[in-house]
Amino acid sequence: MVHFVGAGSGAADLITVRGARLLGEADVVIYAGSLVNPALLDYTKPGCEIHNSAEMTLEQVLEVVKAAEAAGKTTVRLHTGDSSIYGAVREQFDQLERLGVAYDVCPGVSSFCGAAASLKAEYTLPDVSQTVIITRAAGRTPVPERESIRSLAAHGATMVLFLSTSLAEKLQDELLAGGYAGDTPAAVVYKATWPDEKVFRCTVGTLAKTVADNGLTKTALLIVGGCLGEEYQRSRLYDPTFTTGCRQGTSDQP
Ligand code: SAH
Repeated sequence: MVHFVGAGSGAADLITVRGARLLGEADVVIYAGSLVNPALLDYTKPGCEIHNSAEMTLEQVLEVVKAAEAAGKTTVRLHTGDSSIYGAVREQFDQLERLGVAYDVCPGVSSFCGAAASLKAEYTLPDVSQTVIITRAAGRTPVPERESIRSLAAHGATMVLFLSTSLAEKLQDELLAGGYAGDTPAAVVYKATWPDEKVFRCTVGTLAKTVADNGLTKTALLIVGGCLGEEYQRSRLYDPTFTTGCRQGTSDQP
């Protein structure tokens, strides 16, 4: 059996209770060493076999899994954040299906949620944006043309950019060309929820400079949108005059 486990965004105690239990029970752990906090390995039991997938190919990962299965062992494949976001898990699922190996998935706190906590931000503010676009700039990994930053920027929605720190200059140009005003609030969150986290607030117009001035190259998210600003409407959900399925509204204005 293979359990895919989301490690969370950094802090070792941000893994789920289930994820920590699975790690504690595993005979073999294959963890994404480039991004997973090694402190998470403290949850493993003595004698647990540990592999760092940052130094492995998909084929090598599968070899480790196959050997574990043959010995009747349980494997945890530990991915950073939540494995559904840039986790390269689908190709693993399909190979395990082909091999007839049972697996399941335990979600984790994605770094875009970790970063929202670091920023004390709400991505979906009434009248500002009700949409979060999770994307990346095209670099060595291509992005379909219909998802160009320029075209996504036209929505003016909250946008969270993964894997794009080293492309910040071009990215900034595209965000501006797509329609965000230069003074749209933005932020760069480096190692969200790690002990050495750093948060930089800026604007779309100063995004690339913020990245460059602080020497940021990786393990950072770029976040853009009015949700990081000061203007918003309060929610209907907690408005005294608004009736919900759980509460009768009154005529009193707040
Ligand atoms: N599955 C992961 C993302 C993996 S892609 C998740 O759900 O978070 C790797 C990219 O995620 C990094 O290049 C960086 O852009 C972002 N990232 C991962 N952890 C991060 C963190 N703690 N703080 C900021 N960005 C992070």
